[in-house]
Amino acid sequence: MTTPALASHKRIVVKIGSALLVDRATGLRRDWLASVAADIASLAGAGVEMLVVSSGAIALGRTILGLGAGKALKLEESQAAAAVGQIALAGAWSEELGRHGLLSGQILLTLGDTEERRRYLNARETVSTLIRMKAVPVINENDTVATTEIRYGDNDRLAARVAGMLSADLLVLLSDVDGLYDAPPARVPGARFLPLVERITPEIEAMAGEAASATSRGGMRTKIDAGKIATTAGAAMIITSGLRMNPLSAIDRGERFTYFRASDRPVRGYKSWIAGQLEPAGRLTVDDGAVAALLGGKSLLAAGVRQVSGGFSRGDTVAVVDGGGREVARGLVAYDAPDAIRIAGLKSADIAAALGYESRGAMIHRDDLVVTRRMGGRDGKVSHVESA
Ligand code: GLU
Repeated sequence: MTTPALASHKRIVVKIGSALLVDRATGLRRDWLASVAADIASLAGAGVEMLVVSSGAIALGRTILGLGAGKALKLEESQAAAAVGQIALAGAWSEELGRHGLLSGQILLTLGDTEERRRYLNARETVSTLIRMKAVPVINENDTVATTEIRYGDNDRLAARVAGMLSADLLVLLSDVDGLYDAPPARVPGARFLPLVERITPEIEAMAGEAASATSRGGMRTKIDAGKIATTAGAAMIITSGLRMNPLSAIDRGERFTYFRASDRPVRGYKSWIAGQLEPAGRLTVDDGAVAALLGGKSLLAAGVRQVSGGFSRGDTVAVVDGGGREVARGLVAYDAPDAIRIAGLKSADIAAALGYESRGAMIHRDDLVVTRRMGGRDGKVSHVESA
């Protein structure tokens, strides 16, 4: 399989996992960080706009503060650890990139900064300006204020959201696994390695195992979720091991990685923001007629809605699923949940009477709707399966 050289990309987001940057016993892995910084500098020198999503604040803070590695931290303790760790982490990035003459700028995001439209545009403007000023954005979740309900929780999806937001053409996830296998390689000896994923199908999702939970960070599940967000937005994604030195140049040298092809019909701009929403606020189950209408580019009418779940408000993102529970589309719903329940299944002529006011029309207008079912690559096939 031939994949494009890293230097042939315009804009690359590199996500770096905590375990690579921080050794729980000795702290920051400086030499390794220096080797990644050298790789980033050489790509930047070749004209690629580089962005870093760096984990490690909590892990580093724990080590600096001497909080035992095995002990579960209370929320406020991990927030405090993040505060101590982040300042050291950002300092180290600034120093190591600085050795190569690169400026860097720290961006700390909370969930609302990508999920709320106004804040999303704001964050995008700041990061774009940094890039224009030739400073490398070094991004992390703002773990000092994030609480369980309002956090990304993992930097894989955060990095994918950033890749979509900034229209990057490649997302590289550096972690402690070298790519995707059809079963967990640590537990299944004959697990097969997949060098190329054309499209993230339900079969690929099944390989990633358990659904992400509030406590699971990283893991293959969040990487596949990240892949869906990135490839839909037009970025390819690479998962590779960061355990070696100079892990980015290792990709070009042909070390093992899994390459997820970008969709050949990417969703851009406003619709990409909708499609990449991390947690839809509700679900509308629709009939086959509505599915056909949506695939044909039509709005979702109340008449086709069979079931409404979730406590959403007008303007929230909801998932539209078929009778089998498979997601077909996402969109910004035009009604609060109680009204959506009231009018589900009704013809347009009967809606005003049911609501007691003149209706706004569609449940989701087509301008606010993205078909997500046909996202991904060309033919839906997984190619190139080889042995581990
Ligand atoms: N934001 C977290 C940190 O810097 C890491 C999240 C993750 O590992 O995905 O500690």
